[in-house]
Amino acid sequence: MTPQQRSNCMRRIRSKNTRPEMLVRRFLFSHGFRYRIHAKSLPGTPDLAIVGLHTCIFINGCFWHGHEGCSMYKIPQTHVDFWTRKIERNKARDHKNLLALKAQGWHTIEIWECQLKPKERERTLQGLLRTLNYIALENQGAKLTYDFDVEEEQNLAAEDVES
Ligand SMILES: [Zn+2]
Repeated sequence: MTPQQRSNCMRRIRSKNTRPEMLVRRFLFSHGFRYRIHAKSLPGTPDLAIVGLHTCIFINGCFWHGHEGCSMYKIPQTHVDFWTRKIERNKARDHKNLLALKAQGWHTIEIWECQLKPKERERTLQGLLRTLNYIALENQGAKLTYDFDVEEEQNLAAEDVES
């Protein structure tokens, strides 16, 4: 990776509404799922929160979130300590957020950027469907409510228009 490519990569990974994220959103929406995006009131601001299933989904960039054993996660050869510490901090923070969500009774699903490459995409998305169906069965009969603020309601409305 050239420094320019890496810089582009970093920008993309840090931002919201990334391509991998939109891919998952469109897929779920077309399968009838409705969700909140970037719910700031939840630990870690999950990319998606399917409130009805009490399930949060994170779509993680492999570099930024330090996907172990993944070819897309390679610490740059310059400023090694800086990057190592930074990614370790991100991983620790991700872990803490997942635990906090679980403590609040949320299911959590992590999807990695590399699992959404064209070759892997279909298998990943079908696997996600299976997991959500399983959670739906498990949750059957449970009453779940959650309060979201106005801004998040608007996000949801925007998604409806887009699809
Ligand atoms: Zn990966």
